[in-house]
Amino acid sequence: MQDEADFRANSREDRWSFRATTALVTGGTKGIGHAIVEELARFGAAVHTCSRNEAELSRCLQRWEAMNLKVTGSVCDVSSPVEREKLMEDVKSIFHGKLNILVNNAGTGFQRRVTDVTPEDFKLLTSTNLDSAVHLSQLAHPLLKASGSGNVVFISSITSLVGIDTLAVYAATKGAMNQLTRSLACEWAKDNIRANCVAPGYIRTPLIEPLCENEEFVAKETNRIPLGRLGEVDDVAPVVAFLCLPASRYVNGQVVVIDGGRTVNG
Ligand code: NDP
Repeated sequence: MQDEADFRANSREDRWSFRATTALVTGGTKGIGHAIVEELARFGAAVHTCSRNEAELSRCLQRWEAMNLKVTGSVCDVSSPVEREKLMEDVKSIFHGKLNILVNNAGTGFQRRVTDVTPEDFKLLTSTNLDSAVHLSQLAHPLLKASGSGNVVFISSITSLVGIDTLAVYAATKGAMNQLTRSLACEWAKDNIRANCVAPGYIRTPLIEPLCENEEFVAKETNRIPLGRLGEVDDVAPVVAFLCLPASRYVNGQVVVIDGGRTVNG
């Protein structure tokens, strides 16, 4: 554990800084992951990311280089155990065996009544959303421990907290992620690694583009949200960044809801 006197002696800037910080953010070429990569990198972290699409990844890396951000990337399908191992080998080599932040963001979902979910659907949802979160955390553990100060953040969803029809299996993967967060928070605290989770409501990204094009859906949802709008990626990225900063050092094992108040609106 960090000495209290050291923390006090640090300037306030250090509490809010990602200087000398390394991060892996999965699924950083689009949507929420893209915003998280930029948030961490803009505040000084060296970030590694991944996606399945080589051309898209390379376009993003060029853009980040032009912005003077320290971002590297690997092509990786996080639903594949072999590719996850290769990804972590890349991270280990690029960051010399030390990793401060793991953001398990890459995920997928689609609307389907539970009675229509096929074994293939089930496999896709669980391998992409849950197997990857567990396995990447396992693989990252020695690197997080070696850094002396680690943070894991999972991107869950409000579907893990409230019932929404047509999303049962997706919701189940996210509920499991919340519980994984709580267990890791207890298990890894002795290694100075915190684990937290964010649960966003509907956030405008390519994943939910078809829903956002449905005016009736948007109007109905907007009506349920006290802040009166769907979320944007920049509503999520700064919260994830906060959970990875020394400033939040006593926050551990929490599911932070980012939904404009939807889940508290009776
Ligand atoms: P997007 O589909 O917009 O972006 C997903 C990103 O992850 C892309 O970069 C995509 O790149 C990558 N990705 C997807 N599958 C894989 C895979 N198997 N292996 C590697 N990379 C992958 O999704 P969002 O930004 O909306 O979602 C990000 C996370 O946030 C997900 O876990 C999602 O469940 C969660 N979430 C989203 C909400 C929303 O309303 N948007 C609400 C609550 C939670 P590529 O396709 O090229 O591989």
